[in-house]
Amino acid sequence: MLKRLEIAGFKSFAKKTILDFSSSVTAIVGPNGSGKSNVAEAFRFALGEQSMKSMRGKRSEDLIFSGSLSSPRANRAAVAIVFDNRPQGKTRPFKLEFDEVIIERSVFRDGSSEYALNGSKVRLRDVQELLAGANIGETGHHIISQGEADRVLLASPKERRELLEDALGLKVFEFKKQEAERKLTRTEENAKEVEALRREIAPHLRFLAKQVEKLDRAEELRQELIGAAKTYCAIEDVYLRTERADATKKLQAATHRAESANTNLASYDEQGEADTESAKRLSAVREAERTLDRVLRERGELAREFGRVEGALEAAIQRAKEATEEEFVRVPRKELSVLAHEAKMQAELPEHTPAPALHAALVSLRNMFSTFFNRYVVSSDAYLQTDEREQLALTEKRDMLSAKVTALGAEEERARHELVKAREAVAVENETGREVKHKILELAGEKAQAESDVARQEGRLNELALLEEELRRDQSEVLALAGAEAASFSPLETLPVEDRRVQEDRKRNLERLKIRLEEAGGTGEEVRREHTEATEREAFLARELEDLTKSAASLRDLIAELDTELSKQFVEGLAKVNTSFGEFFAILFGGGGARLSLEELSASSEEDEEQESVVVGKPGIEVTVNLPKKRVQSLVQLSGGERALTSIALIFAMSQVNPPPFLILDETDAALDEANSRRYADMIEALAKKSQLVVVTHNRETMSRAGILYGVTMGSDGISKLLSVKFEDAVAVAK
Ligand code: ATP
Repeated sequence: MLKRLEIAGFKSFAKKTILDFSSSVTAIVGPNGSGKSNVAEAFRFALGEQSMKSMRGKRSEDLIFSGSLSSPRANRAAVAIVFDNRPQGKTRPFKLEFDEVIIERSVFRDGSSEYALNGSKVRLRDVQELLAGANIGETGHHIISQGEADRVLLASPKERRELLEDALGLKVFEFKKQEAERKLTRTEENAKEVEALRREIAPHLRFLAKQVEKLDRAEELRQELIGAAKTYCAIEDVYLRTERADATKKLQAATHRAESANTNLASYDEQGEADTESAKRLSAVREAERTLDRVLRERGELAREFGRVEGALEAAIQRAKEATEEEFVRVPRKELSVLAHEAKMQAELPEHTPAPALHAALVSLRNMFSTFFNRYVVSSDAYLQTDEREQLALTEKRDMLSAKVTALGAEEERARHELVKAREAVAVENETGREVKHKILELAGEKAQAESDVARQEGRLNELALLEEELRRDQSEVLALAGAEAASFSPLETLPVEDRRVQEDRKRNLERLKIRLEEAGGTGEEVRREHTEATEREAFLARELEDLTKSAASLRDLIAELDTELSKQFVEGLAKVNTSFGEFFAILFGGGGARLSLEELSASSEEDEEQESVVVGKPGIEVTVNLPKKRVQSLVQLSGGERALTSIALIFAMSQVNPPPFLILDETDAALDEANSRRYADMIEALAKKSQLVVVTHNRETMSRAGILYGVTMGSDGISKLLSVKFEDAVAVAK
């Protein structure tokens, strides 16, 4: 399957050099220092070798042709290996759908490296994976550098194990395992990140959940408020309507009653003029009383005047009497009859004459007689002249007064009569007045009652208006708090039969709900949305975490499976290699034996090994040899040739069990004696049946088994040149 090697600018191969490998064994021959090993290194290089040391360089620049006196240095070293990738049986050697696979690597002087697969740039990793899939491992077990054949013997048990794993083609599992481990690490990191995110949002989510809980409670309250408001408003509304209708009706009735009472009272006001009539009567009484008073007063005055005049008259008469006491007195007849007549007149009084009138009549009588006697009995001549006039005057005056008194007596009589009459009139009048007054009072009472009813109903209507306002206020408040639905209600036909206190309780409940809802806050659409988003995000993260956990688990399963497979195949491979190893060893040494065994970790005496074992966790590989006729068992005790033979036996054994597509052996045969060179060459031939072999050699026996021989020479220009040679020439070229 190895088709070609193309080298350009690599080490001593300044010019493009192409090696064709159409034979199963290709030998490269040439003098020392001509550049043969550079060919083997070109293979290593192209296959992705990272160790500069194994390519005998310090820096990647050392790999680029450094120039010579006659040739300028190159800026790029490039090596391409061309593989035949046509299907062998059912499968292609490389898992690529190309008949030819070209792996190319270049380095530049700046140290950068490039890989290409069939001309497309790829990563080293891609190359490594491709190679591992074709059993071309990275440990280079198939490229044995000059003097490095015994590397496998000198290596640590752990390195040996790696080498063996690689040779057994188990690197694919290793790669898969590493890939799975990388994925697992990434998955676990992702899971951690997701967990961290969840932890991060958890408090906020909890907070939001609490808010939403509050909102739910607020919503419950809102619904409760809506229900309460609907009931309250509907009942209040019907209550107000009913009450208003009632109050209005009552107001109308009261107004009507007040009006009719008023009208009735007005009709009595007309009769009020009748009142003036009764006033007149009363004033007639007053008038009569006043007249009587005046008459009595005047009579009193007259009586006093009369008394005084009579006193004076008596004194005058006394004085005259004292002057003349006469035995007889002459009295004109006419005077006597006048006296008799007047006395008779005075004594004629009505039957039930009141006392004062009687008294007045008596006084009048007495005065009359007194005047008569003073005039006719008590008279004196001595005073006659002067006193007579005085007596006369006094008598006249007394008579005049007496007449007046008499007249006043009559007047008094009349006045009394008038008074009685007036009082009787008033008394009659009073009798009808009381009835009217009673009626008026009744009407006034009715009117007052009606007016107070009017006032009460007006007050009630005002009160209802206030309640109405309050209802509107309540409605707008619940509207603001709980939305339009809360403020709407279906009007009721009739007021339910219940105590008003029930509605007052409803009102109190409504107020309480309003306050609680206010405290609970708004509808919180924002918070709800945020909560939904956060919940969705949390759910998403939870799902993601679950997915990650699942894939981590399946990755762990895969890793475990790969481990199982790896160790199974390793154990099987090891057994096969051991068989071949023993056989090859016996062939090369003409007897004896050698075997690989798993290192016993606990038995390990060397500390660093122990540490390594602990770190790797896999037992390394020990090599034990049993030389014929010798009791040498430790590898370090072997001669250089013996070591080379053992190494060759092991390398060939590994190649036999899991043949690599090609095997490059750089002077692996250098230390062999003639007999062994033959055995070596036989083994080469045997191996070439399964793998392509490229051997760098100075050994004639080896050369003799090659189908193609390349001679490498180096001229004075320091540039390696390649030429195809015949076997006969090859021996010469090699010298
Ligand atoms: P031997 O038979 O002694 O093992 P050989 O044929 O294997 O020799 P190599 O070791 O392949 O020879 O070649 C070594 C030669 O390559 C040296 O002459 C060295 O100067 C030359 N060389 C190595 N690196 C470069 C480089 N970067 N540029 C030019 N020449 C180089």
